[in-house]
Amino acid sequence: MFIDRMFGRRARGCAAAGLACVLAAGCAVNPVTGRRQLALVSEAQEIQMGRQAAQEVGQQLGLVDNQPLQDYVQRVGEQLARESERPNLPWTFRVVDDATPNAFALPGGFIFLTRGMMDLMDSEAEMAAVLGHEIGHVTARHSVTQISRGQLAQLGLGVGSIFFPEAAQTFGGLAQTGMQLLFLSYGRDAERQADELGFRYALREGFEIREMDDIFATLMRIGQASGRSEIPSWLASHPAEPERIRAAQARADTVTRGPLNTGREAYLARINGMVYGDDPRQGFFRGGVFLHPEMRFRIGFPQGWRTQNMPQAVNALAPQQDAVLQLTLAQGANAEDAARRFLSQQGLRAGQGGRQNVNGNPAVVSYFQAQTQQGILTGMVAFIEHNGRTFQVLAYTPSQAFNRYEPAFRQVIGSFDQVTDPAVLNVRPNRIDVVRTTRQMTLSDFNRQHPSVIPLPELAILNQVEGPTSVLPAGQWKRVVAQ
Ligand SMILES: [Zn+2]
Repeated sequence: MFIDRMFGRRARGCAAAGLACVLAAGCAVNPVTGRRQLALVSEAQEIQMGRQAAQEVGQQLGLVDNQPLQDYVQRVGEQLARESERPNLPWTFRVVDDATPNAFALPGGFIFLTRGMMDLMDSEAEMAAVLGHEIGHVTARHSVTQISRGQLAQLGLGVGSIFFPEAAQTFGGLAQTGMQLLFLSYGRDAERQADELGFRYALREGFEIREMDDIFATLMRIGQASGRSEIPSWLASHPAEPERIRAAQARADTVTRGPLNTGREAYLARINGMVYGDDPRQGFFRGGVFLHPEMRFRIGFPQGWRTQNMPQAVNALAPQQDAVLQLTLAQGANAEDAARRFLSQQGLRAGQGGRQNVNGNPAVVSYFQAQTQQGILTGMVAFIEHNGRTFQVLAYTPSQAFNRYEPAFRQVIGSFDQVTDPAVLNVRPNRIDVVRTTRQMTLSDFNRQHPSVIPLPELAILNQVEGPTSVLPAGQWKRVVAQ
């Protein structure tokens, strides 16, 4: 992984996998090192596993709705992959609609860049560095060697399941989906190897590898800029970053060829107009209140809970991590139908419940208990009809804590309401605007000429310069963020 993990969560290591290796592993030749190594999965299994997980990633995070951009990334990715040791994998490159800068590889050749990463890069050569690094993880089979059979079996579970009993421990219900593959930690040696492999692939395709340390430096600057919530906290303290930049520079110094292809204009033309930061059209938080301009509703979450807006769910986790709230679209024709489906799930016992009216919206609210591996959970579920859709608000906690959380659960369900505020209904995302400097000027001057809606330090990071007094040469393409 390029940044390794999202949401600041500790990567799920494979303590158990070590044992599985000894007991059940076969042997295979590593395509990069040529050494025989323990392999838990065949290539066919690897591809199948990656494809399934990739589908889940696409559903969970959503793809950026821009086919020319997707085609472009696929084209550059394929170009690099054909230089790799495994050119015949079904290489697939996609941009997911997530504002967090990240890149990750799934087994079998399924590689994702986030929109946030696309925003930060400033040339095709930098994108080649990032894609090459991820290709390196796949060709060196870093992810495959970390996956236990247990995880393999788990991949099939959880898809389409309404209920996520493990979510209280791992947040957001990600634990039971292919998303967990994103949190594997490869270790520093693997990261170094992926950097080297990426460098090799990019150089063979004539990309300007002297640009590559720029994107590492940008990622390091983001880590240093404190207080930006969307940035993985891991970056801030990662001691390997300066070393990684030095290594990239040292590798570049060994190259004697003249100027290579940066692809800067082609790249910037592709990201011109792209959304920057979270897209509020897909729902956004204001304080603890979640507002959705397209679906025209609002719902309040308790103070201090950790919240997360995903394409298919809004999740909230109690500060003590022992209670979960989740908002999704319900399955079913109406509130009653949806409630019947939910409460008839195996292992689930319906409690008291019935029809209600939530701020003018017809609803069915019910208590329930569920038997899980972690013990008995008690919760409330509400199905609320609004504007032709049925929403599901699910709230649960271990039974012994239910009395403590019930008032908060009731309050959240009761806060579901329509939105009429035009400022919310008409909210627009920030977008990247690529402009050319007309003369030599400082970043401050540039910002006065082309005002951005983001603070100057963030604009500096975006444009890969040190700060407000940095001098931009004349005739250079730079990025501003406008509404
Ligand atoms: Zn990596």
